[in-house]
Amino acid sequence: SKSLGQNTYCFFQASMSANAQQQLQLLHDLRMAMERREFVLHYQAKVDAHSGIITGAEALLRWHHPVRGLVFPDEFIPAAEKNGMIVQIGEWVLGEACRQLCIWHEKGHRDKSVAVNLSGLQFGHTGLVQAVCDVLQRNNLDPRHLTLEVTETVAMRDADASILILQQLNDTGIRIAIDDFGTGYSSLLYLKRLPAHELKIDRGFVRELPHSTEDAAIVSAILALGHTLNLKVVAEGVETVAQQQFLTGLGCDSLQGYLFGRPMPPDQFLEMLTPS
Ligand code: C2E
Ligand code: CA
Ligand code: CA
Ligand code: CA
Repeated sequence: SKSLGQNTYCFFQASMSANAQQQLQLLHDLRMAMERREFVLHYQAKVDAHSGIITGAEALLRWHHPVRGLVFPDEFIPAAEKNGMIVQIGEWVLGEACRQLCIWHEKGHRDKSVAVNLSGLQFGHTGLVQAVCDVLQRNNLDPRHLTLEVTETVAMRDADASILILQQLNDTGIRIAIDDFGTGYSSLLYLKRLPAHELKIDRGFVRELPHSTEDAAIVSAILALGHTLNLKVVAEGVETVAQQQFLTGLGCDSLQGYLFGRPMPPDQFLEMLTPS
């Protein structure tokens, strides 16, 4: 009936403005969080599959919210991407991860690397290449010790534009990883042209290994493809010794997952690097 329609409409409008208000609140909170330095990075070990040696870490963003406690990225990155705050946050992440890496190098762990995740908005942002050059220079880092991770989906959204950006990043000497590989729809033709160094097999293909024959076949195919294109292949989400052995046996170059360590605060990661 008409009255029901009107009620529905009113309800809809009310909920829309509540949602809009929530978004505005989050934007305000994210700005405050930057100002109050509530963001922190945790570091998860990346391990050489064959030697078991920790080669570096992936920096993962956390928000120490004054009321909500530790907030994980899935809860605020999508919104920060929508309202644009991710560009500013992402620049902070890049600077902070490199500052931290510099400390580890000064403590004697000179061959370690750090990987930083890029959001789609950041990836398309014109200041990115300059920001990378600046941060490398400021911290006096060898560019090969920095990896930028961009998801397959972001890299393929506008493949021609991505190739140009990745080429510029590649020219700075840093390394590029294609993250969450296998969840997007890469054209093999584009993959061939992407100036990348690393493919990261999405956790979703690792979870049910070694017993899932489908996932085993997919992982084998990604390994064959990656190695044919001269890329290092990394498996993420490795939680069991059985997965570690299986993936190493298939020829994965690096492994990452709770088996080797959860993401942890920087001082704890340093302890992990320093044999006692
Ligand atoms: P990602 O880049 O794919 O990162 C891997 C995620 O898997 C992390 O979740 C990590 O804690 C989790 N993980 C690692 N090993 C295991 C495991 O063995 N088992 C399970 N179940 N999970 C594991 P986290 O830290 O919650 O991050 C989620 C996503 O948020 C990341 O996925 C990345 O896309 C995004 N993200 C994190 N930090 C940043 C950042 O600084 N900037 C941007 N743009 N995105 C970020
Ligand atoms: Ca990543
Ligand atoms: Ca990933
Ligand atoms: Ca992911």
